[in-house]
Amino acid sequence: MPADKKSLSLIASAIKKHSTFFVAGHLKPDGDTIGSALALGSLLHRLGKKAKLFSKEPIPEYLRFLPSIRSITITPKVTGTFDCAIILESSALERMGNLIDSTQAKTFINIDHHATSTNFGHINYLDPGASSSAEQIFYLFKHMKLPISRAEAQNLYIGLVTDTGKFQHANTSPDAMLMAAHLIEAGVKPFEIYDKIYATKSLVSLKLLSLALSTLNVTEEGTIAYLEVTQDMYRASGASAMDTEDIINYCMMMPGIKIGILFREIENSKNEVKVSFRSRNRHDVNQLARLFGGGGHKNAAGCTVQGTIISAKKQVIPCAVKLLLTGLAVRVK
Ligand code: 5GP
Ligand code: MN
Repeated sequence: MPADKKSLSLIASAIKKHSTFFVAGHLKPDGDTIGSALALGSLLHRLGKKAKLFSKEPIPEYLRFLPSIRSITITPKVTGTFDCAIILESSALERMGNLIDSTQAKTFINIDHHATSTNFGHINYLDPGASSSAEQIFYLFKHMKLPISRAEAQNLYIGLVTDTGKFQHANTSPDAMLMAAHLIEAGVKPFEIYDKIYATKSLVSLKLLSLALSTLNVTEEGTIAYLEVTQDMYRASGASAMDTEDIINYCMMMPGIKIGILFREIENSKNEVKVSFRSRNRHDVNQLARLFGGGGHKNAAGCTVQGTIISAKKQVIPCAVKLLLTGLAVRVK
């Protein structure tokens, strides 16, 4: 169990006290944001609360099999007011897409496991040691002494398995494994979830992967691998930005690579590049992403850089080289 019993108690009291709830995670929703939101929504409904779940951006295809996925409303803006807003793994309301502003709920609860978290809520349950926000919601169930149903366990497991990269990343802690064991006892079938989430590639996404892999490159020292996805590749393959999810992981499949970088042209804009980072061990790509106004975790982070892919590479790669040489994240001109 986590040390932060105080935040969990404050959240449990706020839940008991309030009747209407807003729940949302971050933009570009992933398995953790969606799985955590669904499990939390279910917890609130079971307690007789009126809880509404939202996402600004569409649910990725690989999560649409979830039985309760339709309970999440996709909308650019939410009107009305709530007693309480629970925001999952977002460093600020902007990361959630500003679906509501600070006047639309009496109490804001901020639940985040990212190192870039801030204290924007009235109640802040911040735990960079948690593998996932699903792990934090799991502790909320435990704290409130609520037995976890099979469907809730499945949603929490999806958050856990996706954020730990199938139990591969450094955040695969003993607590994460204990949680997995508990969820399997609650009825999760890991092989079913694996097939539903990972054996789901479309032909167009694999065609996009082949185009992206043809740009794979390694820096002189052989420690940084990078590749790119362009609008031309989307056109040639028939794929879209949603199909880029796993591409960066190929960078990390070569021995000796410490940092992997994906440069992705944003659809409909030739002048903005989404940059994703992955790293091994102590190499802190969160610091690197923060140099460019982004963030994330030590070993997985991202940012958006203005300009073309060529200019983004010129700005970002020297900073990554410098980080490996000195341990310092600084802008290199
Ligand atoms: P991905 O590369 O999979 O898009 O993101 C990796 C990690 O970095 C995720 O935890 C994600 O939340 C975070 N991240 C990606 N892009 C941004 C960004 O522009 N700003 C912030 N603050 N975090 C980001
Ligand atoms: Mn997460």
